[in-house]
Formats: sequence, C-alpha cells, structure tokens
Amino acid sequence: MQRRIYLDNSATTYTDKDVLEKMLPYFTEVFGNGSSQHFFGREALVAIDEAREKVAKAIGAKPTEIYFTSGGTESDNWAIKGTAHALKEKGNHIITTAIEHPAVIKTCQALEKEGFEVTYLPVTEEGFVTAKQVEDAITDKTILISVMSANNEVGTIEPIREIGAVAKAHKILFHTDAVQAVGNVPIDVVKDNIDMLSMSAHKFYGPKGIGVLYKRNGVRIERFMDGGEQERNMRASTLNTPGIVGMGAAIEKAVADMDKNNAHVSALRDRFVEGVLANISDVRFNGSKDMKRRLASNANFSFEYIEGESILMSLDLAGIAVSSGSACSSGSLEPSYVLLSLGVPIELAHGSIRFSFGKNNTQEEVDYTLQKLYEVVARLREMSPLFKKFEGEEKYV
Ligand SMILES: *Cc1c(COP(=O)(O)O)cnc(C)c1O
Repeated sequence: MQRRIYLDNSATTYTDKDVLEKMLPYFTEVFGNGSSQHFFGREALVAIDEAREKVAKAIGAKPTEIYFTSGGTESDNWAIKGTAHALKEKGNHIITTAIEHPAVIKTCQALEKEGFEVTYLPVTEEGFVTAKQVEDAITDKTILISVMSANNEVGTIEPIREIGAVAKAHKILFHTDAVQAVGNVPIDVVKDNIDMLSMSAHKFYGPKGIGVLYKRNGVRIERFMDGGEQERNMRASTLNTPGIVGMGAAIEKAVADMDKNNAHVSALRDRFVEGVLANISDVRFNGSKDMKRRLASNANFSFEYIEGESILMSLDLAGIAVSSGSACSSGSLEPSYVLLSLGVPIELAHGSIRFSFGKNNTQEEVDYTLQKLYEVVARLREMSPLFKKFEGEEKYV
C-alpha cells in the first residue's frame, strides 16, 4: 500500500487505542440507559459520572457544570442561542470575532435574522483580537461575548483571560469555543473568567460525536432540545455512554500529556516551517509569528501563483493529507474568510494550505513531506501563467 502521512490533525484526530478500549464495554456489557433506575442504568451512570468528573477537573470546573452534547457544533449553538433566547429581554447585542468557526459565525448569523445584532470584531494580521477591542464594542444592550480560545485555521491563541476579565467587569456572559484549545493549551474556567466553554473529543484523540458544554453554575440559558429530562433537564436525549466514557478518558490523557505532546509536536512543526521558509520563495506564513501564541500543531502557508486545491490534490496523490482553507468550506472554491480577515490578499488566500501535526507524526514524515512539497510547488509554479512573469528572478525551488 502507498505510504500515507496524516497532517490534518486540526480537522480530526484518531481515537487513542486505550481510549477506545475503555469505551468498548459500554457498547455491549454495560449497555443500560443512564437514566434507568435499575442496575443496568446505575452501572452506566457510574461511568458517566466518572467521565463528568474527569472533564470538570481538566478545566477547573465542577461536575455539575458539565453538560454532554453531540460535539463542538452543538455546544456552540446551544451556548449562543441559549443565551440569546434567555436574555432577549435584557438586550439583543452579541460580540464575537470575524474568524470564529462556522459553528459560531453561522449561529450568530441565524440570530441576526431573529433581530439580534452581532459585532464581528476584526483581527490583526496575525489573527489576534484584543480585550480592548472587546471592551470598546460593549453597549448597554450587550448580552454575550463569544471569542474562540484558538483558531482552527491559523492556530492563533486568543487572550481569553483578559477578555474574560473584561466580560466579568461589565457583567456580560463570556463563551469561548475551546474546541481547538482543550488538550493543547491550559484552561482554567475560574481564572480565565469563562462562563461557557465548548469542546469536542475528536480534536484530542477521543471519539467523534461527543462534546461538552461547560456552563458555570448560576448562568441561565435556554435548553436546546425538547424531550427527556437528561442532564439536569437541560439537554434531552439518552446519554451517549460509550462516547462520554471516551471523552473522559481522552481529556484526562490529553491534559496529563499536554507538555510532552506539545514539545514533540511543536518541534515537528518548527522543523517544517523552517524547511518551507528556507527552500520555497514567495510564501507567506499565516497566523502568529510568536510560536508561543499559536497552537503547537499548526502551520499555515500561502503559496503565491498557485492554487491551494492543486497543492492539496498533488500532496494527496503523494499520500500526504493536508487541508486548504477550513475543512468545513472545502468543496466550495471560496477562499478562507479567516485568511481574508487576517488581510491575506484574495489571490494569495486561494493558495493556502494548513498543515496540522499530531502526536504520532515523526520527524521522518516531516522531511518526506517537505521534499514532496518542494517538488509539488515547483511543478505547479512551472505550469502557472502567473508565475512565468517572475521566472527571470529564478528564486523558486
Ligand atoms: C472542529 C471544530 C468545531 C466543531 O466541532 P464538531 O465536534 O466537529 O462539531 C467547532 N469549533 C472549532 C474551533 C473546531 O475546530
């Protein structure tokens, strides 16, 4: 079989084998409904409560503040719509950023159709929003601030603690989409002044289809789905016991191994970035230049004169999996709105690729990918009518 290298760990990760093993009994032997009052139900509930404690501990929350959902998307929808609908008498203004995940942006757009007003804060060239920008956008109608902890396309880590402090000082609820941050960046919901936080297990080596909304006790939001009284009557539907067990096991491991994994992954990423910048001309490194302020896993580049889709497909043929723009918008030929918000010119945004490294990647894979990338970029540029004009300069690979 052809060799395959997975460099799309921001789209999803594999499920750790030991996480999977902990989940397996909950498909078969321990299959009870966690809400049932007999032995089978109680047995499932014990495992659910254990997982709830693990999740709470990982972010400095209380178990009663953890609600299991179907993923990051549901958690984002619930936090934002649930707050908007609960507080609509108080105000109709929401502050967020221009570079949120579609799960936040489209939720906000849906609320705009209902009459809510949304401020989409612009970001710096490196993808940062500041606490001052957030504070300046607050009006007496503001009911919610939602700013992501780390960006999924360019890896920029936002100053969440400062933004949380601003929200707290103005007594406005603060939600953060921490789907990319959990397991990679230390989070403490108390110190960071976070009222609501979204996470998703499949971004930190857990299973797909299981997420969490952390909601600080005392914060009132509307329930999201009508039905049974699960999750303290806040989130209807039979609890996904295997998924929940997987979430608990995955977050415990991710937090315990965070420093070790980040050291390994950032070394790979840095080697890759150095290789690209040293050997390929006319390339732009997107996101934070300060590596401490971006996810250890993320490298995002725009290659001039060529299309990201072509690079992606050529690398795919070579067995290397990467992403152009966001995984959610690939298939459409629109350039990434995140890169455009960072001020990347539209043609350049079209030539962008995200490489996201994971704990199982090796240095040898990085070197192989670099070699293939040099070849692919050189070949595509040779074919590019845009590049021909610059051929005289002879500075391409
Ligand atoms: C992946 C992702 C989501 C969506 O999570 P799902 O569990 O796939 O629904 C939301 N926000 C960010 C930042 C993400 O990276």
